[in-house]
Amino acid sequence: MPQIVKVYIPTPLQQYVGNQDAIEVRAATVRDAFDAIATEHAALRRHLFEDSGMLRNFVNVYVNDEDIRYLQKDATPLRPGDTISIIPSIAGGSVSVMQRVARARKDQLTMEEIKRYSRHLILPEVGMAGQIKLRNSSALIVGTGGLGAPLTQYLAAAGVGRLGLVDFDVVDLSNLQRQVIYTTNDVGKPKLEVAKRRIEAMNPGVEVTTHEAKLTSENAMEILRNYDVVVDGTDNFPTRYLVNDACVLLGKPNVYGSIFRWEGQASVFWAEKGPCYRCLYAEPPPPGLVPSCAEGGVFGVLPGIVGSIQATEVLKILLGKGDLLVGRLLVFDAKKMKFRELKLRKDSNCRVCGPNATVKELIDYYEFCGVGQDREAELEEAYVIAPEALKAQIETKLIPLATLPQRVNELSTADEIVLYCKVGNRSAYAVNFLRELGFRKVKNLDGGIDAWIERIDPSLPSY
Ligand SMILES: [Zn+2]
Repeated sequence: MPQIVKVYIPTPLQQYVGNQDAIEVRAATVRDAFDAIATEHAALRRHLFEDSGMLRNFVNVYVNDEDIRYLQKDATPLRPGDTISIIPSIAGGSVSVMQRVARARKDQLTMEEIKRYSRHLILPEVGMAGQIKLRNSSALIVGTGGLGAPLTQYLAAAGVGRLGLVDFDVVDLSNLQRQVIYTTNDVGKPKLEVAKRRIEAMNPGVEVTTHEAKLTSENAMEILRNYDVVVDGTDNFPTRYLVNDACVLLGKPNVYGSIFRWEGQASVFWAEKGPCYRCLYAEPPPPGLVPSCAEGGVFGVLPGIVGSIQATEVLKILLGKGDLLVGRLLVFDAKKMKFRELKLRKDSNCRVCGPNATVKELIDYYEFCGVGQDREAELEEAYVIAPEALKAQIETKLIPLATLPQRVNELSTADEIVLYCKVGNRSAYAVNFLRELGFRKVKNLDGGIDAWIERIDPSLPSY
């Protein structure tokens, strides 16, 4: 006996029934009701039924509040006033719609997020409130090299809602020994492009903003002010002082890490709670005194450890939990496998964070650190030595060009190495070969042996 019943149409299917959210039909069973609707709205049929006439398996149907699978399926009889609800399963496209709706609500997690972060949610120090805090917070990672690799991965995995990346480098083959977010296929590609893709693949819930630029006094305040925490993953002093000063001026925590050979350092510089980097080192070392990783080498796992310590501190800051590395410098020796901790004090004479601070805005950090802003030009000059200068140095080793690739292990990147040939062009290739391998203190004898004979020792035979 046909009855008048109401069929509720879910949002994705409403477009097939003239945008109605419910339709009244006269039907004796569920099957009758669907047939009646499908006759009038032909487009709906293929969304509800397979070719065989069976209800599609992702469509669940309820009569009142009961699933028809536990009644008499589509033969379930209807009584006057019954309601039929079509509930598509929450998988695929419809989930993302629901996620977006929930994401707009800043105070709750979606079902997908609850599952993803379940190991955090059962930690008393994180829980639902902490995880929501992480999702609503942001961190800027300055430098996406060795330290940036664990930082981007762990912060994205942990669900920090917005990550900013600053870098302008491309992936080099020599990076892969420690910068583990990049693969061999990425060589030559911009680091930020690759890093962003990796993060989004790992956790689509993280919003990634890329700042493909050198951080400078002109752009630092504008970039840093949009983030809750700043992470220093740089490898040079001008940027390190720039990040420190900008963080002090903006009142942001600066999570510091540095690496050299087998040793790493980490701390949290936060002027409101403790010392800043300038309290520790008021002045940068003279240029050239402290070698960079390219000059001194770095043990590949070291940035993984130090970067992970930085990621830990970032998450603790965002959660407001745990004892931070504020006022403490953690020193890690990978070769001895030892951690030491040094007390850091706020310097009352600090020029940035002290009571009588003189630095009220960003300065020229290249000048401050005594290095040329135009690093390219500086490097070119650094790879050249005059015959007069070479005379003053003692030649200790001679390796013929042809045997250089086999004997390169006899050379140390810490030593100054001079390459020469007759006029200086073949040896220039050898200079570039060694530079590719990470040697930085290599120089080409300008003008070659000919220049040496002409200007230093005319008694030598010219060939
Ligand atoms: Zn200070």
